Amino acid sequence: MAGRNFLFVPGPSNVPDRIQRAMMVAMEDHRSARFPELSLACLKGLQRLFRTENGTPMIFPSSGTGCWEAALSNCLSPGDRMLAARFGQFSHLWIDMCQRLGFEVDVLDEEWGAGASPERYRAALAADRGHRIKAVLVCQNETATGVTSDVAAIRAAIDETRHPALLFVDSVSALASIDFRMDEWGVDVCVSGSQKGLMLPAGLGITCVSVRALEAAKSATSRRCYFDYADMAQAAHSGYFPYTPSIPLLHGLRESLAMLFEEGLEQVYARHAFLAGGVRAAVREGWQLELCAREPKWYSDTVSAVMLPAGVDGAKIIGHAFRRYNLALGAGLSKVAGRLFRIGHLGDLNELMLMGAIAGAEMAMLDAGVKVVPGSGVAAASAYWRGQPAPRGLLA
Ligand SMILES: *Cc1c(COP(=O)(O)O)cnc(C)c1O
Repeated sequence: MAGRNFLFVPGPSNVPDRIQRAMMVAMEDHRSARFPELSLACLKGLQRLFRTENGTPMIFPSSGTGCWEAALSNCLSPGDRMLAARFGQFSHLWIDMCQRLGFEVDVLDEEWGAGASPERYRAALAADRGHRIKAVLVCQNETATGVTSDVAAIRAAIDETRHPALLFVDSVSALASIDFRMDEWGVDVCVSGSQKGLMLPAGLGITCVSVRALEAAKSATSRRCYFDYADMAQAAHSGYFPYTPSIPLLHGLRESLAMLFEEGLEQVYARHAFLAGGVRAAVREGWQLELCAREPKWYSDTVSAVMLPAGVDGAKIIGHAFRRYNLALGAGLSKVAGRLFRIGHLGDLNELMLMGAIAGAEMAMLDAGVKVVPGSGVAAASAYWRGQPAPRGLLA
């Protein structure tokens, strides 16, 4: 097929040429005297990205899901209770993992399209007088619905109730795209991965663990081995991993972090907000369609889930966009299967790349008989982006 594939799923995201080149390396000895130069550069950079002084960043050869399991198996003991909101496929899957590993979960179900309610967390924690809840889970950015929750508000709910539970945050589709603050928000474990905001292939489970969580891991009795924090924490000092790391991915990670810091984290977040604003303008003002995210306070700056009119099959539109226009859009998952498509707007992107996705989605909808005005999405995004100064990362 001529031309390039337009990859607009919310992960894996596009890998910039600079990172591709950085990953083209000969293999080397991961026990050599020089290896810590690479590993420590990655770990120090991650510490800065997570915004933590004393938290320990860790890199597991896994995907983000491995770090979910690491958080549970290191910090908790069999039968422990936790509290988690469920409002999309990813928050659901983490809860499902907790249950399959034998933990008790108090689930706060929300409508898909809403986010985590700090009030409901507060009420559940206040009612837990015996402090049976050992961990509070929250998915910062629900990738299935395009909803971002307020992690600082969940921390405030924990503090107001003086509850000792640990706070675990899934930031897989937020880290390096949407503001995250490990120390300021008192996060005990942050879980992420390489293939979203970090602009790398999948293959690195990236996580950060607070001093308190490392302490809890010492007495927690769940079994773990491959994902053992104590083993992996050594790397932060020595630069040597307990088993063979993916060397190309580490080279890619070092380059990714360099790119993020060159742009400046605040500018990276501003760029994502700016680009997301244009996509939302295309959806709402252009196409006159609804986002799955119910209210502006839930809007995600990394992914937009576009609700389709009743009777239109989202899977058909996505299939057609791929075959006819070489455009990969994200599908509706589980409860919202067939009812929406998702445009990922995270990582290495600019306005004109997104224009391709907006135009392609619009053409695919028109081909499927959806009554959107031809050109309306592009026009609305254009008006949004031209109507205000662009963040630094979009200027040559
Ligand atoms: C992608 C994603 C995951 C799963 O990560 P994998 O790297 O595919 O294991 C978990 N949570 C969220 C919010 C995600 O977007």
